[in-house]
Amino acid sequence: MNNIHRVNLSSGIIGMLVTSPKRALSQCLREASANGEELVFVLPDHQNVFQLLINLLILALTLLLWCPAPGYLVITRPRSIAPSTAGPAHEPPPAKMSSTECSKCGKSYEGDLRGQYCEVCGNRL
Ligand SMILES: [Zn+2]
Repeated sequence: MNNIHRVNLSSGIIGMLVTSPKRALSQCLREASANGEELVFVLPDHQNVFQLLINLLILALTLLLWCPAPGYLVITRPRSIAPSTAGPAHEPPPAKMSSTECSKCGKSYEGDLRGQYCEVCGNRL
């Protein structure tokens, strides 16, 4: 299942000063990556005529200082192989502290019984 993130940009004198499309885009990608998503593709956001007129009106009202600008649509999907599902291969093997195995018949005893004798075959453990 894909996710769509909208990267909002702004225009006008202030908008152009404070908004960097590159920075906004990389910020969005960083957040997606932190959520375990990978980039599929980036689309420029489309702006219809109505939105364009609204934006021009806002620009006029703010004396050319600021208005919304079309940004990007960032399509991501969950990473197929997340590092956390790679399996327990990296975990250390469980410690074998408290068992003793008879070297002759293979019977194993709980606890460190080295030096004693096997109940089954009498072999020294
Ligand atoms: Zn034995």
